Amino acid sequence: MQKPARALFEVLGHLFKKKATSNYPFEKAVVDARFRGRIAFESDTCIGCKMCVRVCPAKAIEIILSAEQPPAPAPAADGTAPVPVKKKFDCIMSLDRCIYCSQCVDVCPKKSLISTQDFELAHTDRKTLKRHYK
Ligand code: SF4
Ligand code: SF4
Repeated sequence: MQKPARALFEVLGHLFKKKATSNYPFEKAVVDARFRGRIAFESDTCIGCKMCVRVCPAKAIEIILSAEQPPAPAPAADGTAPVPVKKKFDCIMSLDRCIYCSQCVDVCPKKSLISTQDFELAHTDRKTLKRHYK
């Protein structure tokens, strides 16, 4: 095929192809389901093992005892020891340090850390990038 004819064929082919770009930020961006965005934390399931802290290469996570703990269980009437209640933990995440490698998500035995699809994290005030999840 001659070069101009091939070029015309190419142009016509692209005219009818699905577009590869999006109109972001004017339209909501669609990200892949496996996208590793902001890490979210579920305090209810966290057992405070700190495996996430140990594995994080960026030292972006702190796990601390929550200021508000569930009340101590009342002693049983038959004298048996009460079942201890689970302590509550908070997570302090430094989003400005996180490299979104998802190692903390993979290592967490309770699935308390979740990779979200939230990628709009740019901010002019660095302090707001330190999030306290309760
Ligand atoms: S978030 Fe997961 S890995 Fe981190 S302390 Fe809690 S249970 Fe352990
Ligand atoms: S995604 Fe990676 S860098 Fe970010 S907090 Fe988890 S382990 Fe650390």
